[in-house]
Amino acid sequence: MSFADLGLIPELLRAVADTGYTTPTPIQQQAIPVVLSGRDVLGGAQTGTGKTAGFTLPLLQRLSRHASTSTSPARHPVRALILAPTRELAMQVFESVKTYSKHVPLRSTCIYGGVDMKPQIQELRNGVEIVVATPGRLLDHVQQKTIMLNQVEMLVLDEADRMLDMGFIPDIRRILDLLPASRQSLLFSATFSDEIKKLADQMLKEPQLIEVARRNMVSETITHRVHPVSAGLKRNLLAHILRHEPDTQALVFVATKIECGRLAHFLERHGIAADAIHGDKGQAQRTDTLEAFKSGKLRVLVATDVAARGLDIDDLPSVINFELPHTAEDYVHRIGRTGRAGRQGRAVSLVSAEEKHLLAEIEKLIKLQIPQEAVPGFDPEPDFHEAGARGRGRRSPSAKSPDAPREPAPSARSTAPARNTDTRRRGKSTIAADGFDFSKPYEPTSPVAAAGASLQPADAATEKHSGPPRRHARPIAVLLGGLGRK
Ligand code: AMP
Repeated sequence: MSFADLGLIPELLRAVADTGYTTPTPIQQQAIPVVLSGRDVLGGAQTGTGKTAGFTLPLLQRLSRHASTSTSPARHPVRALILAPTRELAMQVFESVKTYSKHVPLRSTCIYGGVDMKPQIQELRNGVEIVVATPGRLLDHVQQKTIMLNQVEMLVLDEADRMLDMGFIPDIRRILDLLPASRQSLLFSATFSDEIKKLADQMLKEPQLIEVARRNMVSETITHRVHPVSAGLKRNLLAHILRHEPDTQALVFVATKIECGRLAHFLERHGIAADAIHGDKGQAQRTDTLEAFKSGKLRVLVATDVAARGLDIDDLPSVINFELPHTAEDYVHRIGRTGRAGRQGRAVSLVSAEEKHLLAEIEKLIKLQIPQEAVPGFDPEPDFHEAGARGRGRRSPSAKSPDAPREPAPSARSTAPARNTDTRRRGKSTIAADGFDFSKPYEPTSPVAAAGASLQPADAATEKHSGPPRRHARPIAVLLGGLGRK
């Protein structure tokens, strides 16, 4: 895909070409057409994803109908307001606005605190269509009546979660009150706490939710764990895990629609309130299932990757990979459902011998060796622990089809010792195949939490907690705020 495919006007395409970028990043691919269509956007994206161009380019295009070379200030009212939490970010965004608007006669300025207001006042007086601002200084101008916001058509709130951390939300609310009600609004945040969701509800109208994970980034609050298990014992192991933690809700990922339904039935038969959500289910049925899950009536939602992508689920205590995804990036997407907004989350994967190559790919991508722990009674195929057993499509002769339910042998002890490995990052982030360096502007400060809670046999009264304290399950309803739901 190229920038031209996104429907951008020639003036903007020329500016993009001048930067040397040829391929839009995922957030740009998703956001540009939606913003061009005039819809509000709720964007989940961190710095480093290319989100600035993702909102700046379509914003410029939508305002291009007002572009004018007239010198009269009256012909240049403020049409777009971009709010950023810090001076540095405001300046970065402003640089982007300047870069991409160089062939469109739209004026822009950047206003932030800590400097003399006079030059800012002069710029505003001359007339300017796009204002990039930090909230406090913007309100200073409002108070001094040196800025008029009554013709604003577009509002962008960048890094809303940092705005919250820095105590700017009351300022933002005051600014919202000054803007015309009929406007297009975009809110970007790397995380979504209840407070951000409340703000989004107030600020956005039927927003389109757009979300991208950095390809090699996983939240640092997620505990990862792999249970090596023979394919034929996975269902029973899943039931065992869920019975072991009766107050946890989990989103369970499977590879196929068929397995999705079967697994939900299997869990139901084992007394665990579960339902399936996949592409073949009607919208009404999907909505009902989702509501049941959010309200806590269902403990487990079994989903395929495709179905889960459209789910309005914000944060979960646990994500369980019944089967590993075929691309490592999908692992990042899947587990991105948990451990949000600084909360503790768990990513548990049931891995059979034939999936070891997928596990290797995931570990490579997230730069983390995930601790493996065989649960007694649910052993993996004998060749799971073979040194170098990384072959694609390896299948143990003993592996049974997941469709052939087998009861576990509770008395059997694990012969293969649990391989608990240290969390460790392996090397530095890499540049993606398309040349886009996702690691550059942003490096995690601490290693990803990897040591997880051990799961002992069902008859053991206690669980060993070797990782960070496990978050008690909370009803999903508490975590969901009716965002983006129509
Ligand atoms: P942002 O997430 O907006 O802060 O952007 C992160 C970095 O990615 C910035 O240095 C941008 O200049 C760069 N960037 C933005 N769009 C692209 C693209 N399509 N291809 C390569 N780099 C990009």
